[in-house]
Amino acid sequence: MNTDLLEACPQCDLLMKVEPLTIGTNGHCPRCGCLLFFPRKNSIARTFSYSLTGLILFVPANVLPMVGIKILGVHKDGTLWTGVEALFAEGMWGLAILVFLASIFFPLLKIVLSLLVSACLLFNQPSRQLTRWMRYLKHLDEWAMLEVYTLGIIVACVKLESMAELRFGFGLYAFAGLLIITGMLSSSLDEHLFWRRIDQLQKNIQNQSTNFNQLQ
Ligand SMILES: [Zn+2]
Repeated sequence: MNTDLLEACPQCDLLMKVEPLTIGTNGHCPRCGCLLFFPRKNSIARTFSYSLTGLILFVPANVLPMVGIKILGVHKDGTLWTGVEALFAEGMWGLAILVFLASIFFPLLKIVLSLLVSACLLFNQPSRQLTRWMRYLKHLDEWAMLEVYTLGIIVACVKLESMAELRFGFGLYAFAGLLIITGMLSSSLDEHLFWRRIDQLQKNIQNQSTNFNQLQ
């Protein structure tokens, strides 16, 4: 049996044969109605450009001050790193590591992997690591949580507003841009299209190596 085009519904495990859908149409599971496919326009090119923009924004969002606090004449600037450092200094190691992973490391990894995968697909550059990168990318959605950090910033600003003078820095604007870009990145990535193209590229590598072996 040729299982190349069979896919399983994540809700009810129904195996079905999948044909590529046109842009603007959705594919639902015939048994449980779960939304399975929703093809996006120019998914690969958009994912590539959003991840490149995200990577550029990541630098100022992490390096430049986000919020400056002036209290009793003392002024202090805070970056994304400052929060992690403060938690370390307070002895809250576990929380500091968690904040570092969810707000800095995993979002960066997600952007870099999206850039690598989309670049390989956009420029037809096969790589033996493509399936691994794509698999990691899928799991990173659950860990990269910039939104939670945003909520923390908003809560801190509201609480401090009455007792200190706040000044918003360029790092905060870069962070807001990064947040929007990562959202657009997630919505532009058509997972089924990516897997289908990865499959094609991998088959090309196998065919090339078979032809090479036959020539020898
Ligand atoms: Zn189903």
